[in-house]
Amino acid sequence: MDAKPKPAYAAAEETLDPDDWKGIQRIAHRLVDDAVVHLRDVRQRPVWQEMPSEVRSRFREPLPLHPEPLDAVLAAVARDVMPYPMGNVHPRFWAWYMGSGNLTGAFADFLAAIQGSNLGGGDHAAALVDRQVVDWCKHMVGLPETASGTLTSGGSVANLIGLTIARNVMSGIDLREFGVSAAPPLRFYGSDQIHSCHRKAVETLGLGNRALRRIETDAGFRIDVPALRRAIEEDRAAGLRPACIIANAGAVNTGAIDDLEALADLAAEQKLWFHVDGCIGALIAIAPLHRSLVAGLNRADSLALDPHKWLHAPFDVGCCLVKDAAAHRATFATMPEYLESASRGLASGEWLHEYGLQTSRGFRALKVWMTLKEHGVEKFGRLIDQNIDQAHYLTRIIEAEPRLSLMAPTTINIVCFRYDPGGLDEAGLKALNAEIMLQLQEEGVAVLSDTTLRGRHCLRAAICNHRTRHEDIDLLVAEVLQRGDRLQFAIK
Ligand SMILES: *Cc1c(COP(=O)(O)O)cnc(C)c1O
Repeated sequence: MDAKPKPAYAAAEETLDPDDWKGIQRIAHRLVDDAVVHLRDVRQRPVWQEMPSEVRSRFREPLPLHPEPLDAVLAAVARDVMPYPMGNVHPRFWAWYMGSGNLTGAFADFLAAIQGSNLGGGDHAAALVDRQVVDWCKHMVGLPETASGTLTSGGSVANLIGLTIARNVMSGIDLREFGVSAAPPLRFYGSDQIHSCHRKAVETLGLGNRALRRIETDAGFRIDVPALRRAIEEDRAAGLRPACIIANAGAVNTGAIDDLEALADLAAEQKLWFHVDGCIGALIAIAPLHRSLVAGLNRADSLALDPHKWLHAPFDVGCCLVKDAAAHRATFATMPEYLESASRGLASGEWLHEYGLQTSRGFRALKVWMTLKEHGVEKFGRLIDQNIDQAHYLTRIIEAEPRLSLMAPTTINIVCFRYDPGGLDEAGLKALNAEIMLQLQEEGVAVLSDTTLRGRHCLRAAICNHRTRHEDIDLLVAEVLQRGDRLQFAIK
């Protein structure tokens, strides 16, 4: 009568855990050794290299149905994946805008995955590490302890979170309940140098791209504050609802830093939300020699920063900070009954998903936490100063070299320039410089990207890299000049 119920599944139960823990330990040790050597020798490898077609074709193999020993899987990674990186951990990678990672951060990602905690919330150590990293971010940029914040996948989502709060607060209605169609026509303002993620944000927020008014910039690519004031007044007179000023603390094209104090004053006077996109420059606040460049940062109502840039955390981790913690929570909190807090036990911790868009969230805080503890914040400040100094070093070389032209003032660590032998029109210069850039990439020498400033194409070096040395910059200049000298006749 009291026979125990039999599992319907008669075969031995399975698990993903290894059968042979000792054997796995041996594999794991080798994996770590190889990984450390990989990073140690990064300078000796090409920054980037084209994948041979047979490697490419292996990424089209079908879904594996049957097992393969881990050794074989790791061999495939060593053969097909590790030799073909983006290249951003290399000392001569200066394209777009990325950090260059670090070994301790990689160990942290491994340990975070081993512990496997979900940062949706709850009372456990990972949640406290997450909160502590957010607190440290507030401290670094000078926001008060009462501010709130959340770690995100990156700056784009950090900006989206800030702009969502701005939209909801500034709509003057219960926007969560009634939606954007019930709101007045909100207007956001940023410069014509604003990052593309803000366009995605206003579109995602249901406001439409036109709700983001781009204001012209001055000779230093900073927002023209009087023009911004005129735009706000014009929109108000037209029955629109000015809502938010988005400042660039380090614009993506040139590194320009808007006049944050003037924008904070204007936002206060006009009763607008003040959001700072500090994905590039907010952390200059910790750099002893340059921190005055971002004065006014701490007046932000919301601020996006990117630890996977100048803190060199391995991808990905961004952070949104919000001065009014209640407004932050009121934008995202939902608290369904299946996630109610308890006074004791695991669910007694704060539910961190109340501060953003994700429910489940990875333990990305650990890589920031461990690296900050290992090196101390002062070293990160010095590394930021070092990159800015390197960019000014490159700038001085360009200014002294007749075949190179500086295309924008260098404020921080971004240098816009081009090879210009004279006698070429804009199209010719673009073709020539693009070819120089592509050859440098294809030969694995250095990776730059390009951009267009006021209709003029140029090369762009964004030195957010703790491995870069002055000699790398000397090499870059020599290689650009040599290729330019050779290629200019082919273009003409
Ligand atoms: C990098 C960057 C972003 C986007 O951040 P992600 O981390 O790439 O999502 C936004 N704004 C600026 C100024 C940036 O440099």
